[in-house]
Amino acid sequence: MLKIVQTGDPVLREVGRTLSVDEIRSDAIGRLIDEMRETMREAPGVGLAAPQIGESIQLAVIEDRIDYTKDVSAEVLEARRRSPVDFHVIINPKISIVGDAAVDFFEGCLSVEGFVALVRRATNVRVECLNERAEPVIINAQGWYARILQHEIDHLNGTLYIDRMQTRSFSTVENI
Ligand code: ZN
Repeated sequence: MLKIVQTGDPVLREVGRTLSVDEIRSDAIGRLIDEMRETMREAPGVGLAAPQIGESIQLAVIEDRIDYTKDVSAEVLEARRRSPVDFHVIINPKISIVGDAAVDFFEGCLSVEGFVALVRRATNVRVECLNERAEPVIINAQGWYARILQHEIDHLNGTLYIDRMQTRSFSTVENI
């Protein structure tokens, strides 16, 4: 497993550099993706950005598995518009907000361990990126998946949810 760095580590505040097509297709990046997938599942988390494991590059992995929500009520899943997302990789992403709709929900981060806070996020986003084969991909996402994408792409640009949170909602996981 890779070590997940915690807030205060300067790498979390850097803007990751973009990857070339040759780099994306390299064995080194292939191995990194495998390790990031296993580290994310072990955590467990629904996303992991390369800066969180100390690599300042524009790459993140995302996966929202159905077993992560087996103890979450149907009402909560419905309110959050959360449904499973297959494992995938986003590289060099460009995100745009679609429409004006935004919602407040508690979110956490593997690099701000033990805490959560209310964060307002757009409900609909569009992401243009490359996949792990360096093929162009367009993602149109809604609900919780849109939140995950915003959170992970923030990481690639040196931003953490604590920069966007409603500060008085900041809470330990126990207290929530
Ligand atoms: Zn995070």
